[in-house]
Parts: sequence; structure tokens; C-alpha cells
Amino acid sequence: MELYVHLPFCRQKCRYCDFTSFSGQEGRMESYVSALLREAEIRAGEITESFDTVYFGGGTPSLLPPALLTRLAEGLKARLPVLQDAEWTSEANPGTLTPAWLEAAMPSGINRISLGMQAAQNSLLKTLGRIHNAGQVEESVKLCREAGLRNLNLDLMFGLPGQSPADWSETLREALSLQPEHISAYGLIPEEGTPLFRDLEAGRLTLPEVETERSMYDTLLGTLSRAGFEQYEISNFARPGYACQHNIGYWTQTPYLGLGLAAASLIFPQKNGEGLQYLRRTNTADMDAYLSGIAEKAPVFSEETAIPPGESRFETLMLGLRMNQGVTEERFQALHGRSLESCYGPRLREMEARGLLVHEGDRWRLSRLGMDLQNQVLVALMDD
Ligand code: SF4
Repeated sequence: MELYVHLPFCRQKCRYCDFTSFSGQEGRMESYVSALLREAEIRAGEITESFDTVYFGGGTPSLLPPALLTRLAEGLKARLPVLQDAEWTSEANPGTLTPAWLEAAMPSGINRISLGMQAAQNSLLKTLGRIHNAGQVEESVKLCREAGLRNLNLDLMFGLPGQSPADWSETLREALSLQPEHISAYGLIPEEGTPLFRDLEAGRLTLPEVETERSMYDTLLGTLSRAGFEQYEISNFARPGYACQHNIGYWTQTPYLGLGLAAASLIFPQKNGEGLQYLRRTNTADMDAYLSGIAEKAPVFSEETAIPPGESRFETLMLGLRMNQGVTEERFQALHGRSLESCYGPRLREMEARGLLVHEGDRWRLSRLGMDLQNQVLVALMDD
């Protein structure tokens, strides 16, 4: 089972960000951490297994004062069954990471850091509204290594307004020169309501052409493969042995508990005659409602949805196809008690004929073209 803990504080809101995060509320960190620990206590009863991964996401977890970080990590371990050798990731941002934070993080159990590098060019970082510059990325990586960290991810972005293929190649070169164990690289999706979206709508910024973005993705695949990274998911690459177990858990429908604002949980998976069924709960994204709800021991879910077997089957397919290992008939059958062939056979073969899927033995996976056109594939496979 997996544990996700949301820490929504940021020094400044990035111009493309629509995550549940905000600046100027650092004064509430103390009460928020207390609420997280109380929520852990309240929800401990839902736990059916030990946690083999923990993930501090944000927000900017590296903004948490070191003493508060220790209180949170130790408090979670005291309340929830976290395995001793759990993979424990924290997101961190250059410009906020300090030796003192790392000195608190490492003894508390954090053994993997995901650093938001995004781009190597200061002009692009400025377009994105990031608080850091390129030099601070190098500095942060150095601090992580000096603290003894052996599992480092760098987050990168491509398809940015004003980003040339040469910029992207340079970003990849710079990232590799920092010798991370893992790289995540996402194409920018402009989200409505963000300042960046408004700039694009108004023509003040322009995205690269679709073909250019595709060639950037090709560059990503080629460069990282030559550097010894294995792609294990559309956007994720790792040196052998360093794939992120927490994210793999999401893509394989492992149950998870989410604590904090807007955190989602996948709980109570159970099989009935129809197949696999589970509940998905999402916490409120309203800070006041969350703090007062937890104080009163009232439910803080804004949404609770029972995922019926049909939807659960589609999720197995959709999430499995994100991964290079794809979906096997054997696994699908074991989870759902029905064959992949009987649920999706004709549609899978149609996608194969169009060159979007590859069928090897009992395994279906996206082709290279399918990775570019994954949305089309998913729409075509969706249950009627
Ligand atoms: S640091 Fe991350 S969570 Fe915070 S505003 Fe930027 S993108 Fe959003």
C-alpha cells in the first residue's frame, strides 16, 4: 500500500500551475502539519497493509521548516505502518532546498528526492514563473549528494513557449551532467485559468508546433537511452533499479491513502462476482474546511466515488498502457476475472492495425506512434 502526503505551500505560484498550492500561507504550516497527523490517526483504521512507499508532494515540501519536517515524518511513522525500507520520496525545489532541510529529511527516512529543474535556460524558467535559476539546480543537486542522497529525480518540461529544440537538447545535456538516477519529462499542458494560459490565448506567448514537440520527445527518448536510462513509462526514465515504486503503484492500481488538501485515496479494493471494485475518495481543496473538519473529526472528503468493475477494467488498461511493460492478459484476468480479449479484443486489434498498439505474446503496449497519440488510443478503447 502507498502513502501520499500533500504539502501545498509554495513561495510563489508558478505561471502554469493549477495544482492545489498557494503562496503566502506559510504561517499555517504548523497547524497544517498537526492536522495531517490527526488525519493519519483518524484514517489509520482504513489501512489493510503496511506502506512500502511514501511520497511528500506539493506544493513545495522543501519549504517546510526542518523541525516541522521531522515532526511530520516521525509522527507519520508513529501512527501508520510504514515499512523500515520504504521508498520515501519528497519533492523539492531549487531555491528552497537547504542543508538544514536535508539534515532533517535523511534521518527521518526520506531516501529519494524529486527536484523540479524544469529547464536549463533562465529565460524559460522566467516564462514559467519558477523562483529558481539554472545555477541553483546545480547547487541543490550538490547539497543532496553531500547529504548522502543516492536516489535523485530531476523533473523536466518540454513544449514550452519560446523553447527551441536546441534549448531542449541543452536541458537534457545539463540534466545528465548532474548524474541523476531518474528523469521525469512532461510536455507542457496549458491549464485554463493560469496566467500562462491567458498569455497563450492573448497571443503574447506561442507554443512550439506539434511536430516540433514530437521531435523533442524523440530527442528525449534517444538521448536518455544512449545515456543508459530505461524508459518505463511514457514520461519516466530510470537507471536500472531506480524506477519510482510509488508511481508504479498508481499505474498498477495499488491501494493508496492520501493525506492533506485535495489528496486522493484508493481504498477497499474488493472482488465481487463482477470483478474488481473500489472506492476513490478526494479530500477538500479548501484549507479552512480541511483544518476545521479534521479538528472536529468530521469527514474532509469532497468526493467519494465507488468505481464499478467496468471502469476499473478500463483503468487497468489505460494506466497499464502508460507503462512500457503494457498490460498482460494474465494480469488483467487475475484482477478482473475476465479476459482482456473478451472486454477489449476487437478494439485492441483495430489500434494494432493502425500502428498505435503492439501485441507481443499476451502483452499489449503502446507503439512509438501510440505514445504520441495516446489520447486517441484511450478514447477509442473507452467503454461505450
Ligand atoms: S512549485 Fe510546483 S506546486 Fe508550487 S506553484 Fe510551482 S508548479 Fe505549482
